[in-house]
Parts: sequence; C-alpha cells; structure tokens
Amino acid sequence: MSVTLDLADPASRPRPAAGALSPLGAAGPGRPSLIGLDREGLAEALREIGVPEKQLRMRVGQLWHWLYVRGVSDFDRMANVAKDLRTRLADAYSIARPEMVDEQISVDGTRKWLFRFDAKGAGRPVEIETVYIPEEGRGTLCVSSQVGCTLTCTFCHTGTQRLVRNLTPDEILGQVLVARDRLGDFPDAATPAGAIVPSEGRLVTNVVMMGMGEPLYNFDNVKQALAVASDGEGVSLSKRRITLSTSGVVPMIPKTGAEMNVMLAISLHAVTDELRDVLVPINKKYPLDELLAACRAYPGLSNARRITFEYVMLKGVNDSLADARALVKLLRGIPAKINLIPFNPWPGSPYECSDWDQIERFADLVNEAGYASPIRTPRGRDIFAACGQLKSESERMKKTDRQALEAGV
Ligand code: SAH
Ligand code: SF4
Repeated sequence: MSVTLDLADPASRPRPAAGALSPLGAAGPGRPSLIGLDREGLAEALREIGVPEKQLRMRVGQLWHWLYVRGVSDFDRMANVAKDLRTRLADAYSIARPEMVDEQISVDGTRKWLFRFDAKGAGRPVEIETVYIPEEGRGTLCVSSQVGCTLTCTFCHTGTQRLVRNLTPDEILGQVLVARDRLGDFPDAATPAGAIVPSEGRLVTNVVMMGMGEPLYNFDNVKQALAVASDGEGVSLSKRRITLSTSGVVPMIPKTGAEMNVMLAISLHAVTDELRDVLVPINKKYPLDELLAACRAYPGLSNARRITFEYVMLKGVNDSLADARALVKLLRGIPAKINLIPFNPWPGSPYECSDWDQIERFADLVNEAGYASPIRTPRGRDIFAACGQLKSESERMKKTDRQALEAGV
C-alpha cells in the first residue's frame, strides 16, 4: 500500500519544511538557474548584472550560503543582500526548485518524488524520479542523472526507456535540494544568517547516483553537481558519502577517480563475459578484464575505502554457488564490498528473483571469503521505488541526438 498525495490539491500537500518558501514552485521559464554553478560561474553571473569587481567575492559567499546552507529558493529571503540587488538577481536569474508533480510515501518510510523539467531540446517536458531511503542512523538519496538510459540492461526497467536527455547540473542538484526541503533538512528561517549549521541530525546523509541513467555518460554535469553537493561551505556532503554507480563505462573510470573522487559502485551482476554480455550489454564494449583492471587502478582504495560491486540476484541465471565462488575469485585483490540486490520485478520483466534461501547461501559463501556482502532489503516496493523500477514516460530523444551524445565517450 502506498500513500499518494495529490499535489494539485492544497489540502493534501504535506506541510512545507521550515525554511523552504515554496518547495513546489516551478523554475521560472527562460531565466537561467544559478543552482549548480561553481563560484566562478556565480561570479560571472553577478558580473553580468553589474556587481562591481571588488564586491564579487563577498557576494558569491553570500549567495552560496543562502542557496546551499539555508536552502532558500527565493531571492527575497536573502536578508543580508541589498533589496536592489535582490531585484536585479530575480529579474535575470532563477533559483526556484524544479517542479514536483508527485510525492509518494511507502509504508516503510521510503519516499519517491516525480519531477518535471523543461524540454531543453527534448521536444516536450521530461520527468524523472528520485528516491529517499531512511535507515537507522542514516538516510540515502538515490539521484537520477539522465532521463531514460542509452543502455539496455535486460533486468532494469529504466533500460526499457530510451535516453531522452541528460540532466543539467541544476536538475541533478535540484533533486538533493527538494529532498532536503521536503524532509525539513534545512535550518529554519529563525536561524541567523551566517550561522554554522551542524551536519549531525540530518536526514539526507548519503547520496547515491543510482537513479535513472548512466552517470558516466553525463560526466560533466554530474561532476559539477557533485562538486557543489560536497562543497564544505554548502550542502557539505562528504565525498565518502557520495557513491556513483556505473554499469562499467571503463574509459571514464580513471577520470571519475581523478576528477570526482567519490565512492565507486560497479553494476557487475555476472562473473563471465558470456552472461554479462546479455545482462549488461555494455560489457560487449568493455569486457570484465578491462573493467576490473580499471577498478584495481581506482585511486585511494583501501579497506576503509572500498568499491561496491552490485550483484542482482536472478533466479537460475547468476545465483549458483559456482557463481559465488567465481565472484570471489574475480574480485581477489580489490578492496571490495559486494551488494547482493534481490531482483525487483517490473511489469513484463523477463526474470524472477532468486529464492531467499539461495540468496542467503550465496551471501554466506561470499562472507566466508572475507567480503562484507549485505543483502539489500528491497525498499519502497509498494510505490515502485526499488532499484531498477524507475521509469518515466518521457518522449524519446531523436536518434541523431542520442548518437551524438554517445559518440562523446
Ligand atoms: N546506470 C547505473 C546506475 C543506476 S542503476 C548503473 O547501472 O550502475 C542502480 C542499480 O540498480 C544498478 O546496480 C542496477 O544494476 C540495479 N538494478 C537495475 N534494475 C534492477 C532491478 N530490477 N532489480 C534490482 N536491481 C536493479
Ligand atoms: Fe541504464 Fe543502469 Fe538500468 Fe543499465 S542498470 S539500463 S545502465 S540505468
């Protein structure tokens, strides 16, 4: 059972989080968003509306604080910014949140939001999903990087939807900001401007790039959004609490380590090229030996900083004990965690989830070999928010645009 809120009906809207002026507000049409710009980008935006050179540093600092520490989505809330400058900012730019069209809350507390973004070349507005998973002592936000996906992993619902377009940095970061609005994770309006806001007690403690899309096919935008999310003077999420999951875009893995330096997760799912070619077809381009070599070379690996290998449990397909033994052998020498994911079915999916006993036997074998191998409890299944169930009905991107995007890698 799930609770579906009709956001068109004000009576059914959840109370806006303290400090969030209008979490449901749509981004202003036409005006460029300041969300997701780095400090240089913000300085340039201020320069363009005539802020004098000698004030830029101070003004950027103020904006950064209001946007990312306080989470305001209206220039008028920026109390220590002169009224005249607030007006000029509002005339030229937007800091509004993305439009949220639906919020669902699972019986287990998992939340799923449906966001609508401008077409930006896709022909019509696009929609994506973001999921929040509360757990004891932490809360993980599962963020999308693309509308749809170019890849076609056979067990993934998103994989049945063609790529529509990449999300921009403001749209990626916007998912984090709205989640924090809705959860009341920003300080309230009574907190004095400039006050340091403690990070304990937060509800969004971790971000995983495991929503819709392949983040390494949208490298620059994901990098820019994560740089802002991990900035110590803003949202301040430690890079150790940000995990990027890839299906195995091997050429981009060293660049991810060098330029983003976030935690890495690999959607492995099979231990032979023969099977992985079917389940995760990008394997035909970048086979297992190349993928694992890139993992071995990922910077900063240690027992405290491991790569997560995701392994979806598909009945009779990849769940034998021989597979478990081969998995252990394959990962030898890599500081690794193995995440066993019970397969989440979706309408028309061609697989079944492994039997629970078999998942446990598989996990025991992997544990005995010295790997932590938590079985990921499916969360939010009732609201269709579990891994691989995300899919929106956005229009396809034109084939030529898609090819141009893919040719980039
Ligand atoms: N495109 C990236 C990130 C998004 S998918 C990637 O593939 O890594 C997030 C995780 O959910 C991946 O490990 C993916 O393989 C897994 N997943 C996809 N569909 C699933 C399903 N139906 N059941 C369980 N896990 C699934
Ligand atoms: Fe795309 Fe990841 Fe789904 Fe594969 S598992 S289709 S890469 S979103």
